Amino acid sequence: MRERIEQQPPCGQLWGVSLGPGDPELVTIKALRVLQHADVICCPATEDAHGGLQSVAVDILCDLGLSEDRFRLMTLPMSRNRDHAERGYREHFRRIADDCRTGKTVAVVTVGDAGFYSTVFPMIRLAEREGIVCTLIPGVPAFLAAGAAALMPIALRDDRVQVLAMVEHVAEIQQALSSGGTVVVMKLSTIRSQLLSWLEKSGTPFLYAEKVGMHGEFTTSDIEDLRDRAIPYFSLLVCSPYCGRPAENRNP
Ligand code: SAH
Repeated sequence: MRERIEQQPPCGQLWGVSLGPGDPELVTIKALRVLQHADVICCPATEDAHGGLQSVAVDILCDLGLSEDRFRLMTLPMSRNRDHAERGYREHFRRIADDCRTGKTVAVVTVGDAGFYSTVFPMIRLAEREGIVCTLIPGVPAFLAAGAAALMPIALRDDRVQVLAMVEHVAEIQQALSSGGTVVVMKLSTIRSQLLSWLEKSGTPFLYAEKVGMHGEFTTSDIEDLRDRAIPYFSLLVCSPYCGRPAENRNP
């Protein structure tokens, strides 16, 4: 056990590193160890309205006290068009592969868990094809952190859980709910314009969670709180019978 904890990451490898939802204290000890030793840390980033780059991953890494000189920002395509998306990944991957070949340890980080709707996996697939040794470090996914933030279980006993993403119409959520259990909706911004009226009409108990563990964290089960909400990218919905119950003894 002790030997495993102190083991250094081998050179020339690709590590897919999960950072958890945003709170640096939810980064695992294993992830932190790899990040401290990596030669390059590749971070997903998005372009803002002024052409600057924004990266929640970088915010988490800075909170951990890691120095920015090893960070490499990658703007990755969120395109539904597979060919377009793959081209974008391949461009970044070429540099990663060159680094691995010269014996560098490269960490590709992701918010939440790296195996759950993550930009890390396309990189892992490309690396495997080229014989680069890959290792994945799991992390706390945002929907579990959302349940924790609201002091609410996601599933109990024999409950089923369905996870939806990139939903185009709220009818898809309604359909999922009809088979019972908990329904989690990731990438909620795709149904921004339909959400409020559907919640009002259906009366479904819900938990809306925004920027969990990040600056500006916001959770609610009250529909009134959603009236003027922008529903940003980092937001999700949990629908289950456990939503909206008063949580006694909740910390402020
Ligand atoms: N790998 C991530 C999911 C990435 S997909 C995970 O394990 O959670 C991106 C979606 O995840 C966002 O659109 C949003 O629905 C959700 N998400 C990620 N981080 C979040 C956070 N801190 N708060 C709320 N939602 C978050």
